[in-house]
Amino acid sequence: MAETPPFLIEDEIEADEELRLRHRYLDLRRPVMQRALRLRHKMIREIRGFLDARGFVEMETPILFKSTPEGARDFLVPSRLQPGSFYALPQSPQILKQLLMVAGFERYYQIARCFRDEDLRADRQLEFTQLDLEMSFVEREDVLALTEELLAHLWRECLGVEVAAPFPRLPYAECIRRFGTDHVDLRYGMELTDLEEVFAGTGLGIFRKVLGDGGAIRGIAVPRGGDLHHSHLKRLEQQAMERGANGLAWVLLRERGEVESPLEKHLSPSERARLARALGAGPGDAVLMVADRPAVANEVLGALRMQLARERGLAREGDWRFCWVVDYPFFGWNSAEDRWEPMHHPFTMPAGDPGALESDPGSVTALAYDIVLNGVELGSGSIRIHRADLQRRVFDALGISGERAQERFGFLLEAFRYGPPPHGGIAPGLDRMAALMVGADSIRDVIAFPKIQSGVDPLSGAPGRVDAAQLEELGLRLSRP
Ligand code: ASP
Repeated sequence: MAETPPFLIEDEIEADEELRLRHRYLDLRRPVMQRALRLRHKMIREIRGFLDARGFVEMETPILFKSTPEGARDFLVPSRLQPGSFYALPQSPQILKQLLMVAGFERYYQIARCFRDEDLRADRQLEFTQLDLEMSFVEREDVLALTEELLAHLWRECLGVEVAAPFPRLPYAECIRRFGTDHVDLRYGMELTDLEEVFAGTGLGIFRKVLGDGGAIRGIAVPRGGDLHHSHLKRLEQQAMERGANGLAWVLLRERGEVESPLEKHLSPSERARLARALGAGPGDAVLMVADRPAVANEVLGALRMQLARERGLAREGDWRFCWVVDYPFFGWNSAEDRWEPMHHPFTMPAGDPGALESDPGSVTALAYDIVLNGVELGSGSIRIHRADLQRRVFDALGISGERAQERFGFLLEAFRYGPPPHGGIAPGLDRMAALMVGADSIRDVIAFPKIQSGVDPLSGAPGRVDAAQLEELGLRLSRP
């Protein structure tokens, strides 16, 4: 016997996502969801087979553990047996997999659940799954090569697609210069270009001021973007301003050097010609420019580039463009908190002269890498620090005092006293990988029971209240009942 379900059990439905998730057991009956989750199963089966054949050992690590920082807020679990103490759910098994290297398991992997208390988005959940792996006695290239081989295997077995390896390796600084972001999408052009030379002698007040203040003028050419309507350009400008830009300048190129633009009067014929040449743009194309601090110009144009490519269908479906981003800065400056923080995590090996950790932290690069596919960061990894003295110096540079480092990570520093092998690894996100494979917009479509943006699970109603007696047992009292 079955009642009439609240929505149709077929692929193309209009039902609100919350309703679908409330009745996820019905939603999952839809063929599209069946296909997605079965493909995810196949991917995980292939991962296991591939790594097993290469001598990797699958190991489980605790969920009730200590804070393993990956830059997010921890989920805490109060301990009944140790009143007043808390476990942290792992943001990743990072420290544990390093301990397994010290323990002599030279090749480890885990289909690992990670927990990060941060804002949910299409590609983020409070808990997500990653393929966590680690190898001893390796250099960066070994990890990259193994990952490439694994990804090529998965694309072949799951999608019947051959992807070309090795994948391009792009230094972080180059990514920012060319694409405005390290979430590189190589499926289309529209690369960011410096226009300072074009406007070196500009009569346009705002451009002159930005250049005088050491800012940047950067632009992209939108192929056949001459058809962009004024209302659309206004909307793009609005979005640019929401991202912190002062404005967005646009120029539509017409035949014979004619242009249509709010800046038209201020552009000399030679500037028009040089602008088109610098961007490789021709009649019928559009030019979008941002004059601002370099970081703002890059971020805004990088986001516009991806958005316009989406809107204009510039990326071909079935075009899989993997790439590596390498040579990351070790530290990023957190201006809100006035301190350095690691771009990856604090266990990453710095490259080059370690003296710079103290003298010039901003110049230190990391032996870290991201694997990126079609504008989506699939995962990151690094070669790790395996010496207690160097690890301590990195904690110092991050402003983690000796005492605090001892309290939080003393067990790792102690393990490093017993002949730790050099090691490194990576952790591609399985939800994102599956979502890309099935062409889903959100990782929610490849997770059996995901949560919505508010962190709520519409099916069970979690998170929920608990009995006063349970709180009492844990020695907890709510300050905001
Ligand atoms: N622990 C890192 C993460 O979860 C991955 C890694 O460095 O292997 O992002």
